[in-house]
Amino acid sequence: MEKNCVFCKIIAGEIPSAKVYEDSKVLAFLDIAPFNFGHTLVIPKAHYHCFTEIPAEDLTAMMTVAQKLAVALMRATGAPAYNLLMNNGQVAGQEVPHAHLHIIPRHVDDTVAFSAPQKHYEGDALPELAAKIREKLAKQTENQ
Ligand code: AMP
Repeated sequence: MEKNCVFCKIIAGEIPSAKVYEDSKVLAFLDIAPFNFGHTLVIPKAHYHCFTEIPAEDLTAMMTVAQKLAVALMRATGAPAYNLLMNNGQVAGQEVPHAHLHIIPRHVDDTVAFSAPQKHYEGDALPELAAKIREKLAKQTENQ
């Protein structure tokens, strides 16, 4: 448990939350300021800052719960669709530094929007960047 972490305090029961699922590794509860009603946060019980810090076992547990919850949320809210969202790092909009996956129920013509002007690769920039990423990935695998 991280002393000043609001989600660790929720896990410890020091701050109330509207829990929808709990097991030894994972907790899920309703977001207090939802984009749509039913907007849920799925978190690992252990304190990891972001996605890339979560060990595979905890990540698998989280995603398995998220998949079941997405179905339950759609059934409970009547939403025909949902978004999964994870902000990782302050620059990406992460406000609570305890890894969490948002599940956001979506409705026709709701006011939720995830959009940005799209960029275009010039010249060989696209295959060059793909090659660079493959190289970094191979080095990471070597170092594991
Ligand atoms: P993020 O910007 O990805 O870090 O999102 C943090 C989310 O946590 C926001 O959507 C907040 O509304 C939500 N949140 C913060 N405090 C609480 C809380 N005590 N209970 C439920 N949700 C919370």
